[in-house]
Amino acid sequence: MSLNPHRPWRNITRRPSRKIWVGKVPVGGDAPISVQTMTNTITSDVKATLGQVLRAADVGADIVRVSVPDEDATRALKEICRESPVPIVADIHFHYKRAIEAAEAGAACLRINPGNIGDESRVREVIKAAKDHGCSMRIGVNAGSLEKHLLDKYGEPCPEAMLESGMDHIKILQDNDFHEFKISVKASDVFLAAAAYTALAEATDAPIHLGITEAGGLMAGTVKSAVGLGNLLWAGIGDTIRVSLSADPVEEVKVGYEILKSLGLRTRGVQIISCPSCARQGFDVIKTVDALERRLEHIKTPMSLSIIGCVVNGPGEALMTDIGFTGGGAGSGMVYLAGKQSHRLSNDQMIDEIVRMVEDRAAQIAAEEQAAE
Ligand code: SF4
Repeated sequence: MSLNPHRPWRNITRRPSRKIWVGKVPVGGDAPISVQTMTNTITSDVKATLGQVLRAADVGADIVRVSVPDEDATRALKEICRESPVPIVADIHFHYKRAIEAAEAGAACLRINPGNIGDESRVREVIKAAKDHGCSMRIGVNAGSLEKHLLDKYGEPCPEAMLESGMDHIKILQDNDFHEFKISVKASDVFLAAAAYTALAEATDAPIHLGITEAGGLMAGTVKSAVGLGNLLWAGIGDTIRVSLSADPVEEVKVGYEILKSLGLRTRGVQIISCPSCARQGFDVIKTVDALERRLEHIKTPMSLSIIGCVVNGPGEALMTDIGFTGGGAGSGMVYLAGKQSHRLSNDQMIDEIVRMVEDRAAQIAAEEQAAE
């Protein structure tokens, strides 16, 4: 990532890590931080699962994980992997045969803890299947399912126990000459997760999958994830993220992107900067932003838009955004393009006009990019 010499306070130096591949998506090294989600349909219902994968991919998911608890699921996985526009991670818990079937079905990555699948011969079989089919793996340590001997040793889930669990699983893969793996140490407690991830980041150069597990519903889980993941990402830790919400996977992807966007780590779509509004507002800021968020959801081109109620902060914010609108009284406001005053717009036309300007600018950027290729 290039550092910003003019605004050094915005720089985040990412922890160096190895690069692995989840299908066509690089994870770690200099790869962009990828956004993942997980389906919550019955996997054997191919139509429903694929529908969810497609909707998640459409809002920007780079990778989607699918649970494969039984043979029906691994059978369905074949079609899901074939039809999915993004790599599929097969989520396996204890059944090593499901892992082999998932690799054969086209999964790009197996989420599996090698220490939980039985004896050495089973581990070797799974690793062979992964190698034969070009699958990477994710070791997924979770505070809620730590090994009994670690709970006995440490008394309760703690950062040291989570790190030890992760390093034990890593050793099994490395002893079998398998290095295409990433690792997570998730907890629902942000302090525990942050401490475990920080220790992990010191102990290995494997790419790190970040997540605050079981974070809660849309609102509470978003805040908790933003605090937990935001703190780690800001410290440069994390190569791929999944926000876990008791909500539609599409929401998980949107929240994941917003966290990355707020730290300048990824850009996608329109980033709206808007004021909270007050008695000075020259138009209804809240209703306008709500309408713009919905009507600009289809824009994928990175762009910034400021929607500010009055001149107190409007011109200043417009300086830092591609397109700006500032309320100005008398039923109209000022449009700014690249920070410069452009033209006045009446309040009753502003939503349609701003949507048109954003769409035009997105098309222009896309054409410029195409011409440059
Ligand atoms: S920018 Fe103006 S309208 Fe918006 S909150 Fe500030 S003072 Fe109020």
